Amino acid sequence: MGTDALSNTDALYRRGIFGNTAAEALPQTAVADAITAHMSGGGTRRRRVLVYGLDGVRADCCPAALQDGGTAYIASMGTNLLSYAGGDPKQPETLQKTCTWQGWASILTGKWGIENGVVEFTTLRRDCPTALLKLARLGMQCSFIVVWPDHFGVTYKDEIEMASTEKINFSHILAPDEDALYSYVIERTDVGDDVIFAIVDSTDHLGHATGFSPDNPAYTKEIEKRDMQALQAIRHIESRREFANEDWLFIITTDHGGHDMTHFDQSPEDKLTFIASNKKEYFLK
Ligand SMILES: [Zn+2]
Repeated sequence: MGTDALSNTDALYRRGIFGNTAAEALPQTAVADAITAHMSGGGTRRRRVLVYGLDGVRADCCPAALQDGGTAYIASMGTNLLSYAGGDPKQPETLQKTCTWQGWASILTGKWGIENGVVEFTTLRRDCPTALLKLARLGMQCSFIVVWPDHFGVTYKDEIEMASTEKINFSHILAPDEDALYSYVIERTDVGDDVIFAIVDSTDHLGHATGFSPDNPAYTKEIEKRDMQALQAIRHIESRREFANEDWLFIITTDHGGHDMTHFDQSPEDKLTFIASNKKEYFLK
């Protein structure tokens, strides 16, 4: 099984779906660094960020070949790279489960759980903030939009409290479903947030309910549906009059893969993820 997943991703690499091989996969922590780097840059155009997260998408189910999909669109301007969850195999002390709370916490903080505190279903350390909280503290307006309530109830509980106490511009929005999540992304774009970070949950839910597999249409169709919604959000951003004076970083990524009806281990099916972005300079050093 492990070998199959690896050969799947290498076959996709040869077809040009990914800009790197599985052996060259980037740590998922690269996303936080890219957000920070983009918002720290200069220029005359206003810098903004949209991260459209798709929970639990196996790398070999990455919708990068989908026409009218967000991943293919932003990769056509930049790149689509294999990445990995679950800690750095070269630093065994960083290894963590390939699960949702650990994955997004590493993506958002740029650190593995050994540093950010999210090694299990635990709350993020107060002294290891997300890139969004750090930017909000610098005066930027950020929003974090999710469907799965435990993100806010457990992992980011203390961050929400800190943002409230510090009276900074950091909105935490719990959407009732993925369509509402999409609508909130549009709303926060129009309100003028500097950084918008949204996480679709249904992709992971379908994996648990029906199987994480490239051969399971219930799972892959949901991934495609949400990837098309990500493109709609990007099209909306680009259609606004202000867009000519803006410099957007777009990212579509996932927190972990899966096998059978679950995910947690260090197998390539669970561990390999992807990061698509219109700005390859933040990922290819
Ligand atoms: Zn997940």
